[in-house]
Amino acid sequence: MKTYRKELWFHIPTRRAFVNITPQVNECLKESGIKEGLVLVNAMHITASVFINDDESGLHHDFEVWLEKLAPHEPVRQYQHNVGEDNADAHLKRQIMGREVVVAITEGRLDLGPWEQIFYGEFDGRRRKRVLVKIIGQ
Ligand code: ZN
Repeated sequence: MKTYRKELWFHIPTRRAFVNITPQVNECLKESGIKEGLVLVNAMHITASVFINDDESGLHHDFEVWLEKLAPHEPVRQYQHNVGEDNADAHLKRQIMGREVVVAITEGRLDLGPWEQIFYGEFDGRRRKRVLVKIIGQ
C-alpha cells in the first residue's frame, strides 16, 4: 500500500469564502501515483470546512445567506465563545458544513458524481490556514 500526505495552504483575504479545491486535490492524486484507493481531505482548523457540492455561484450565495440565518456573525456579543474573539459563528458554520470529505479513487481519477466538486469553506479568514490531503491505496 502507498501513502501520500500534503498540506494545502490558504490565505483568504475576506472573512468568508468558498474555494473550489478540486484541481489541487487532482494534482495531489497525480503526485501520489495511486490508482486505486481513497483520498481524505480535511480542514485543519475549527473555523473552516471541506465539503462537496455544486460549483454554482447562485448556490454559494444561498449557502452564505442560509449560514448567516443559522449563525449570524453580528451581533458578536450574542455568543458566549466571543470573549476576546469574534468567531463563534465561524465555529458553528464549520460544524454544519463539515470537517472533511472522503472520495474514492478509481483508475487514477477522483470517482466523483457528475456535478460533485470539492470546496474549502472559510468562515474566519484573513489568516493562513491549512487543508490536509491524505491518500492511501495502490
Ligand atoms: Zn474561536
